[in-house]
Amino acid sequence: MLENLKIGILGGGQLGSMLIRHAVDFGLSISVLDKDTNAPCVRYTSSFFPGDPKSYEAVLEFGKGLDVITIEMEAVNIDALQQLAKQGVKVFPAPDTIKIIQDKYTQKQFLLSHNIPVVPGVAVDGKSDLHNYENKLPGCLKKRRDGYDGYGVMVLKTSADIATAFDAPSVLEELVDIKHEIAVIVARNEHGAVKCYDPVMMEFSEEKFVLESQIAPALIDEAIVKEATSLAEKIADALQLVGILAVEMFITKDNRILVNELAPRPHNSGHHTIEASTTSQYEQLLRAILGLPLGDTSLHLPSLMMNILETEALNSNRQEKLQRLLDLPGVHLHWYGKKGGRPGRKVGHITITGNTMENIVSKAETVREILN
Ligand code: ADP
Repeated sequence: MLENLKIGILGGGQLGSMLIRHAVDFGLSISVLDKDTNAPCVRYTSSFFPGDPKSYEAVLEFGKGLDVITIEMEAVNIDALQQLAKQGVKVFPAPDTIKIIQDKYTQKQFLLSHNIPVVPGVAVDGKSDLHNYENKLPGCLKKRRDGYDGYGVMVLKTSADIATAFDAPSVLEELVDIKHEIAVIVARNEHGAVKCYDPVMMEFSEEKFVLESQIAPALIDEAIVKEATSLAEKIADALQLVGILAVEMFITKDNRILVNELAPRPHNSGHHTIEASTTSQYEQLLRAILGLPLGDTSLHLPSLMMNILETEALNSNRQEKLQRLLDLPGVHLHWYGKKGGRPGRKVGHITITGNTMENIVSKAETVREILN
């Protein structure tokens, strides 16, 4: 029924690969644009186009003749997407939605204008401008554009830290007293149907802003679950979203919810939906952008997800380690097959499912011991 549709993804990373995997279930074939000819998606599509998703010409050329375009990263050329939309290509999420979210300050202003609680912050032009905001320290400095996985985020404790700050247009946010970090993925289609996944809870390593593990369901009060999901739905409506959106939120020590940031695409916080939810976030994205009914988002198993980061220890004995992991029941391995080496980058993830969270957490300890 869908096999004649021509669908394209901007970006060829692991999120794109997992989207392709689920597209196969619907009989779809997918074209991919990425500047890296070794990107994970390359071996899963016969229509790989080498080119930069940030380039106007590359995106325009790639999009010609496609029926639907979606993204697996925000750093894409908006002008080209707008042009393609004018030519009749369905671009989901809409270029305007991606544009708002690409810039952390614009995103914050958008949320504020819709009465969504956010972390208070000011826009700073660069390093020298920071001296005008010394009275706002301590604070959390974030590059307005192109930050990911904690790259582009730093804490400034005192004005002495300005010397080591990055020099780029940024947002200086208040430092939040965080009790929990959670994320809600929401899907919305062209007909305005909206569905949320239950919140997941994330744990970060303090010094690196890198995710350590993520559990679903989040161990938070029912009232917070309700408030978080209704905020996510409200944001999806405000954006007139078509697609899926991850809404990252902080729960403060005094139990307020503040929206941290948005990602209008498949997201790390939805990895577990492959094994633990009735409909994966990838299938949900396809349903949303193809005008199909949205799938059931219920969580049928508790789960814990952890990223596998490239380390020397892992590289030294990888085969044996992965084999030991696969010997553990309920441990699901996703290996991204990335080429070349850069310590610290994500090379895979593991989702652990089980009957109880205690059982899962203890299995996670074993997994950590194997990986380290
Ligand atoms: P990225 O886009 O790189 O993931 P985030 O905005 O999510 O960046 O920030 C990364 C991490 O930094 C968050 O998960 C959180 O742990 C911490 N953080 C971000 N903003 C603040 C803040 N205003 N106060 C305290 N910690 C913060």
